[in-house]
Amino acid sequence: MRKLIVIAAMLLWCLPVQQQVTGESVEQQNYEFINGRWFDGQSFAVRKFYTAGGLLTSKKPDRVDRVIDLSGKYIVPPFGEAHNHNAEGAAIDDIIRKYLEAGIFYVKNPNSLLRTTEPVRGKVNIPTSIDVTFANGGLTATGGHPMGLVRRNIERGIFTEADGDGAFVFIIDTRADLDRKWEKIKAGKPDFIKTYLLYSEEYLKRKDDEKYFAWKGLDPNLLSEIVRRAHRDGLRVSTHIESAADFHNALMAGVDEINHMPGFRADEKIPISRYEISEEDARLAARKGVVVVTTLGATMRFIDRVDRTGPNGEMAKKYRDLLVGNLRILKKHNVRIAIGSDQYRETSVPEALSLHEWKVFDNLTLLKMWCETTAEAIFPGRKIGRLKEGYEASFLALGGDPLQDFTNVQKIEMRIKQGNILQLSN
Ligand SMILES: [Zn+2]
Repeated sequence: MRKLIVIAAMLLWCLPVQQQVTGESVEQQNYEFINGRWFDGQSFAVRKFYTAGGLLTSKKPDRVDRVIDLSGKYIVPPFGEAHNHNAEGAAIDDIIRKYLEAGIFYVKNPNSLLRTTEPVRGKVNIPTSIDVTFANGGLTATGGHPMGLVRRNIERGIFTEADGDGAFVFIIDTRADLDRKWEKIKAGKPDFIKTYLLYSEEYLKRKDDEKYFAWKGLDPNLLSEIVRRAHRDGLRVSTHIESAADFHNALMAGVDEINHMPGFRADEKIPISRYEISEEDARLAARKGVVVVTTLGATMRFIDRVDRTGPNGEMAKKYRDLLVGNLRILKKHNVRIAIGSDQYRETSVPEALSLHEWKVFDNLTLLKMWCETTAEAIFPGRKIGRLKEGYEASFLALGGDPLQDFTNVQKIEMRIKQGNILQLSN
């Protein structure tokens, strides 16, 4: 006990002042939770759970510090954000608060700069904050995405040249580049590897053409070698895609996760069929257990705002049908889908609500995508995303049933993270 208090005091001392307010107490308390309706992966059932040492258990621990009456609230695992670059920088305290308020405890940053994420690392991955995984610099080709962002940030004085190749990106045009840079990539201790495919069916055509600056990516033939090395070194691989051919090539290369859906920012000049995921690829993605991260919310909302009777009405309908078709084919083959927004100023809440509004998925499926698959995609090795014996005691108490009305995911009345009651003061 004394040891725990010492550790708690040390932890408090390490935390910046703003962060102390988010945890009621860093000293681990054991709780008995009564009268909650707990989500079991299918429905809600009234049962009793204890939290002991930060884990969930149905066995009464030797010491119970407090009994908490959940008075009929709906208990779900926390939500996740599978694609957002905002877990970085000087505004991190506000960003952490925003995520915790939304019930999002797990965030994946799939391309980041060590320089801007280093100071953040002491403020995340602790019981009173969000947990984040970082890719560090993504692997792309010369002139490939996200070099447009790098160039823009240099022009604005946000980045220097040193933040480009070897930092925010690793330029890999050949196997020799990979040989030379792999140790440096690993030296940054990324949690996973981010790679870029953009219209890889036109890799040769786009490669040396400045017209395609930032609209190209890796040689698809190199991707399997990147995956082989990453897997050998215990790192999972996420791949940015644009076209259906990229989706296919990513699967063939053996990646673990596909980021974005074909057509999420479609080029009007390209035939829509080049964005349609095939039955075979959906089946293959399911068989390989590959996770697909949505990042469709902003496009969905853009499409919804177009006047259907106006000049762009037909176009909006065409792209809506495309995106719905792709979501349906993934659903039909039970592909694992994680919710990620790629919206720097947002969290995954609008993404989840947009998906809800388009009604491709029923409430149960959507809830499981957000609580279970998304959490597993961010921290594949952890016992999170389920309310089961021995899992981390992290959950939200909702004021209404999200299976009846999905928007109840926003009625969060209590947040528990690894056995700690989070107090979000103003
Ligand atoms: Zn992104």
